[in-house]
Order: sequence, then structure tokens, then C-alpha cells
Amino acid sequence: MKEKIVILGGGESGVGSAILAQKQGYDVFVSDLGAVKQKYSKVLADYNIDYEQGRHSEEKILQAGLVVKSPGIPDNAEMVLKLKDKGIPVISEIEFAGRYTNAKTVCITGSNGKTTTTLLIYHILKNAGLHVGLAGNVGNSYALQVAEHNHDVYVIELSSFQLDGMFDFKADVAILLNITPDHLDRYGYNMQNYIDSKFRIIQNQTENDVFIYCEDDEIIQKELIKRNILSGCYPFSLHEPDEQGAGILNEEMIINYNKNQFSMSILDISLQGKHNFYNSMAAGIASQVFEIKNEKLRESLSDFKGVEHRLEKFLKVHGIEFINDSKATNINSTWYALESIPKSIVWIAGGIDKGNDYSMLTPLIKEKVKAIVCLGKDNSKLHAAFDGVLKNVVDASSMEEAVKAAYYLSRNGDTVLLSPACASFDLFDNYEDRGRQFKEQVRNL
Ligand code: ADP
Repeated sequence: MKEKIVILGGGESGVGSAILAQKQGYDVFVSDLGAVKQKYSKVLADYNIDYEQGRHSEEKILQAGLVVKSPGIPDNAEMVLKLKDKGIPVISEIEFAGRYTNAKTVCITGSNGKTTTTLLIYHILKNAGLHVGLAGNVGNSYALQVAEHNHDVYVIELSSFQLDGMFDFKADVAILLNITPDHLDRYGYNMQNYIDSKFRIIQNQTENDVFIYCEDDEIIQKELIKRNILSGCYPFSLHEPDEQGAGILNEEMIINYNKNQFSMSILDISLQGKHNFYNSMAAGIASQVFEIKNEKLRESLSDFKGVEHRLEKFLKVHGIEFINDSKATNINSTWYALESIPKSIVWIAGGIDKGNDYSMLTPLIKEKVKAIVCLGKDNSKLHAAFDGVLKNVVDASSMEEAVKAAYYLSRNGDTVLLSPACASFDLFDNYEDRGRQFKEQVRNL
């Protein structure tokens, strides 16, 4: 009899896993407690895969020999606990798909910068002519691509939730960009749990594998001292580079990888700002592993277009630059946005914060920001933090009001920056909706 596999969640990763599982000869059942989007129910029907939505049929699910769980379902969901209680293995899509391919993997994690770095590496490898797939939190499902394409290399963005469901998987190239407190609600409010989850990026690595990490990150540094790491280590830093790894010296980005040295003026890198130099260095080291020629790497680092909603320079209106950084949903990413822009800035901020401590931004606010437009249902924390620092801290209750207020408060040569440091759900569907509305209102000025 065929082994029974249950896929929990009928979204991009669940449906991809179901197709791969069917191809591998499993008896597949997909179960989603919510509604399955039409696009996915059609695919499941086309492949003749049994599924349910709006419920979890316990008697069916508990018969599984293996369960693949979508990253959106928390580890403490009732059904997951029941499965674990019965000793049924619960794994992530990436773990599952990894069992059926020999392709090389470049895996990227961190609290911020994952999507940008993942897309940048994909751009570099593709431009160099490699047969490369994009997977994880961005792009199409990894499992689906393993089932249907089988690329030579996959660039995979991994959240800590995906990493939590990975056990035997090994990244050939692992990148850890940074660690700052995030999602602590899913880690029992214990920072070490979150750090351990991020460090799963290097589990199973041997001395033949590559680990690329940020040397300037104190949390990563402290953790490295505790661990015995076998992988070939390539740190990156904004300071002078190590013998192996990347750094910046006299405005030149330098990468030392084995015997090859790469260098490029930081002024020629398309993604500007300190945080983006980190991302570019990480991407640069990763591409050296694939022996991309220096000229090709230089070309790709200089012509990468960036990613929508991440410090996206959108339009200039009467000499005022409007920048959309709607994806900045925590203090750390907003800090880098403010850091990377010269004064004067009119800053649009606010939404739902995950316990923000705004004091970390105060020095930059004093130095560069001339006014703050608070865009949230509850702006009291922003007022408490900045009313005593700036004269102009005003409220807005819609994007239209916010953009108009920011425009009114700015002059030729200023920048209006939407970098909320907060989630968007109080006034918008998601951060994409917030960014799009921003751009629409700027266009209307
Ligand atoms: P993620 O996928 O980890 O959420 P993104 O690439 O989508 O990261 O960027 C999210 C936000 O973080 C954006 O505002 C972006 O400008 C900022 N950011 C990008 N890279 C970094 C970095 N290395 N460190 C801190 N912030 C960053």
C-alpha cells in the first residue's frame, strides 16, 4: 500500500508539496482549516488530489505516515500538537522537497533583508547563465519546482518558521544576515529560541559547505563563540575585510574568496545604504562559490533594480523625493532607511507595532527629520516618543491625508519617506497595499 502523506495548508507551499508527493507515489490528502484560494483548488482538482477546506478531519489526518506543514501554521496549533503527540513526523515544504533533488541550494535567513538578498543572488546567478530557481518565501513553491523543473541551483528565502520544520536538509551555501528580536510571540518570548531557530540554517553543514554571516552583528558573534562550526566561514562587515570574506575599505567593497579577490566602488552598487551593502556583500560572496566572473558580478550588482516597497525611490514632485519603504515593519529596518537618506526628511510612520522602543531612532530623528506624519489608528506611542523632540508631529488617518500632510511640510530638496516601523493591518490589507496606496497618492499630487 502507498504511504499516506497529509499536507496541512492549501497555499503555495502546500499545493506544491502535494504535487511533488503525488509524483513520488504517495497517497496524498490536503487539509486547510481556512478557505483554499480558487487558483489552488483548481490545481488540486486538475491533479486529482484529494483535499478539504474549512476543517481538519482528525481521523483522516492522524492516519498519515508523514505530514508537511505550511509555514503559516504555528507549531502549537491544535492539530500539530495532536500529530506530535502521536509521534507522526511534521516537516516543512523545504525539508520535504530537499529529499528529491540533488540541486545546489543557497539559503538565506535573517530578521531583515531576506527578500532583497534572495532576489539579488537570483539576479546574479541568472545573469551569469546558471539554470537557477527562486523559492521559499519568494517565488514559486520549491516542491513544485523540484517536481516539474529540476534546476541546477535554487536560491531559497527561509523564515524561522520554515527552518523550524527542517531536520535533515542541508544548505550548500547558508547566509545569516542579522538577528534582531522579531516574532517573539511564536518563540515563547524567549530570544534564545529565536536565535536557535535562525542558526538551523547551518545544521548538517560539513567542512565542504559555506556559511556566510554578518560579522558586525553582536547577537551572531556571541552565538558563534558557543558553537563548533564545521562549515567554511565567510563573514562580511562594513569594516576591513578578513582574509576570507567581505568588507569595505576606502569606499571599495572587497570580497576575498579562496584565491579570488573582487573589488568594486560602493558608489557603483545599485542598492545604496549600509544595510544594502551588507546584502550586496552576502550576495557577492555567495556568487563567488559558483565562480561567477568578476565582471559579471560587478555588472549584476550595479544593474539590480531593487525590490518594490523596500526603500523604493518612487517619484520626485517639485524637487521632493518620495520613497516607499512600506516593508519596513520593525524599528531596525526603519533605522537603516533613515540612516541611508540625507537630511531633511519628512517621515511617515505608524501602524501596529510589535512592542517598538522608538528611543533607538531618536539620534537619527534629531539629526535628519524635520517632521513626522503619524499614520495609524493609535499614534500615542509615536507622540510620546517624539513630541518633545520635534515641533511638527502630526496625525493622519488615511494615506491620502498622510501624503498631503507630508507634501505640505516639505520643501524642494527634501525627502518624504514612508517607513512605518509597524505592521499595516489597522488601516491596510498588508504592506503591499500600504505601499501601493502611497504611490497612488503621490501620483495624485
Ligand atoms: P525580509 O524579507 O527579511 O523581510 P526585505 O528584503 O523584504 O527583508 O526588507 C524588509 C525591510 O528591511 C525593508 O524596509 C528594507 O529596506 C530593510 N532591510 C533590507 N535589508 C536589511 C538589512 N540587511 N538590515 C536591516 N534592514 C534591512
